[in-house]
Amino acid sequence: MKMPIVPGKLQQRCAETLNAFDAPRPYFQRMSVERIRTRFLVVGSGVAGLHTAWRGAEHGDVLLLTKRSLFDSATSYAQGGIAAALGAGDSPELHRRDTLAAGAALCDADAVKVLVEEGPTRVRELQAAGARFDLEPETGRLKLGREAAHSRKRIVHAHGDQTGAEIARTLIARVRHSKHVRVLEKTRVLDLIVRRGACLGVRASVSGVATEIIADVTVLATGGCGQVYRYTTNPVVATGDGFAIAHRAGVTVADMEFVQFHPTALDTPENPLQLISEAVRGEGAVLVNDRGDRFMKKVHKLADLAPRDVVARAIVDQQFAGRKVYLDALKLASVFPKRFPGIFALCTARGLDPRRDLIPVTPAAHYMMGGIVTDLCGRSNVQRLYAVGEVSRTGVHGANRLASNSLLEGLVFAERVARDIVQVAALNAVPHPGSWRVPVLRDRGAAQVAADTTREIMWRDAGVIRSASGLREAQRRLSDIEQRLPVGATEERNLVQTAQMIVEGALKRRESRGGHYRSDYPRPLAVWRGRHIEL
Ligand SMILES: Cc1cc2nc3c(=O)[nH]c(=O)nc-3n(C[C@H](O)[C@H](O)[C@H](O)COP(=O)(O)OP(=O)(O)OC[C@H]3O[C@@H](n4cnc5c(N)ncnc54)[C@H](O)[C@@H]3O)c2cc1C
Repeated sequence: MKMPIVPGKLQQRCAETLNAFDAPRPYFQRMSVERIRTRFLVVGSGVAGLHTAWRGAEHGDVLLLTKRSLFDSATSYAQGGIAAALGAGDSPELHRRDTLAAGAALCDADAVKVLVEEGPTRVRELQAAGARFDLEPETGRLKLGREAAHSRKRIVHAHGDQTGAEIARTLIARVRHSKHVRVLEKTRVLDLIVRRGACLGVRASVSGVATEIIADVTVLATGGCGQVYRYTTNPVVATGDGFAIAHRAGVTVADMEFVQFHPTALDTPENPLQLISEAVRGEGAVLVNDRGDRFMKKVHKLADLAPRDVVARAIVDQQFAGRKVYLDALKLASVFPKRFPGIFALCTARGLDPRRDLIPVTPAAHYMMGGIVTDLCGRSNVQRLYAVGEVSRTGVHGANRLASNSLLEGLVFAERVARDIVQVAALNAVPHPGSWRVPVLRDRGAAQVAADTTREIMWRDAGVIRSASGLREAQRRLSDIEQRLPVGATEERNLVQTAQMIVEGALKRRESRGGHYRSDYPRPLAVWRGRHIEL
C-alpha cells in the first residue's frame, strides 16, 4: 500500500524549479547551446550504467556520460563481492529468503525473485566477458565467501577484496570495445528535459560547455548519495545528483529515509573513509571496545555478523558512551595479507598492521536503499526515463540491503533495462534548443561551506540514530542553506535537496525499521509494514 502524501514544501519548490527551468534566468546569458542527438543516453559509469551501455549498444547507438572519468564510481570501490546462489547447497530460494529478511517487510517480492533468479546467469556472463573472479585452486570453481546475514557462502569476489574494480575494468573494456558506445567523460548532467510527461534528454555541462542531449531513451545510473553525510565510504561523485535531478522534474522517488550505514569504516580524518569489508568479520575478525569487551555478543544472536544496522547502532552506542571501537583481526594474521590485500595495503599505508594492531572503526553512510521508483524493467513514472542501480528503487532492498546485493542489482536490472529500451519508439519531434548556459560558480568557498555544513547536520540529526526534534532542526537548517547557495552551486544544490528528501522521509516514518532508526519510535510498527513514503 502506498502512503498518501500531502505535497510538501519540497514539492512546491520543485514546481517552482521546473518553471524556472523553462524560463530564462537572470544570470543566464542568452547564447547558443551545443546539441547532441542519440538513440540511448546512459548517465553514469558504475556497474549499472556500464552494463546498460554495453548491452544497449547491441540495439542502437549509446551515449554514455560520466561526471569525471569512467572509473570514478562507487562500483570501483566495492570490495566484498557480488552475491549469487552459485554454491553447492545454495539456491535462489535461500538467497530470496535472506534478502527478504534483511529488507524488514519492505521489499518488493517480485523484484527480489528477479534478482536472485537472474543473478547467477549475470555473474556467469560477466565471468565469460572477462571478469577474473577468484577461483578454488583445486576445482577451478568460483571461490565463495560469506557475509553478514547470508545463510550460505555466496559472495563471488575478485583479487581478494577488489571485486568492484575488476567488474568496472571488465565492463569498461566491453564499452570501449563497442563501436556503438560513445563516451563523454567530465560531463555533468544538470537537469532532465521533460515535456508533457516524457523525458527528451538532459541539459549537461560538457567540460563546462552548455549542451543539450536529446535521446529517445534516457537512463539515469548516477549511483548513491553518501556524500550527504560527514562520514561516508562513498566516493566524492556520490552527491545525490540523480535523486535531486529526478525529483525536480516530477519523477517519483521513494524510501529515501532508508540509508544504510556501514558499521566498519576505518576511523581516520579522510573523505571518503576507507571501508573495512564485512568479509573480514565473515572470516572471523571481531569487534571490541577499548576495554577489550566483545559487545556484539550481548546485542544480537549473530553477534559480529548481525545485520548492518544493528552493528552500526551498537558501535554508535559505544561511541556515545565514550568508548572507542576496534576490529580485532589478529587471529587472521597468517591469511590477512593474501585474503584482503587491498585492506591490508590501506591499513599499512596509514601505519596500521592488522596482523599486530587493532583496527579503529566507525560507522559511515554507505548505501541508499531508496530512490527513483521503477518497475521490473527499470521504467520510472516519466515516459522514456529509466533508472538503474543505486539511484533506483526497484524494491529489492526494502528497508535494508543485504550485503553484496547491490552490484548484483546493478547487473540484473541493467540487463532488463537494456532489453526493454529497444521497444521505445524514436522521438517524432525534437524540442527547440533552450537558451541557457552553465552557471559559473563564483563563490567556491561559500559552496564548500554549504556542503560541509549539510554533511555535519545530516550526520548529527539524520544519521544512524534520529528523532523528531533533530530532524525538524535539520529541516530548518537545510532550508536556510538551500536559500543561501551561491549562483552556480549546482552540485551542492543536489546535495542539499537530496538531504532534504532523506530528512522528509525520516520525519514522516514514525517507527524504526531496517536502516531507519528513530529513538522516539524505537520499534517497527505494524501500521508501517509494507508502506512506502513517496516524495
Ligand atoms: C566502499 C564501498 C564498498 C562497497 N562494497 C560493495 C560490495 O562489496 N558489494 C556490493 O554489492 N556493493 C558494494 N558497495 C555498493 C556498490 O558499490 C554500489 O551500490 C554500486 O556500485 C552502485 O553502482 P551504480 O552503477 O548504481 O553507481 P556508481 O557505481 O556509484 O556509479 C554512478 C556513476 O554516475 C556518475 N554520476 C553521478 N552523477 C552524475 C551526473 N550528474 N552527471 C554525470 N554522471 C554522474 C558517477 O560519476 C558514477 O560514474 C560498496 C560501496 C562502497 C562505496
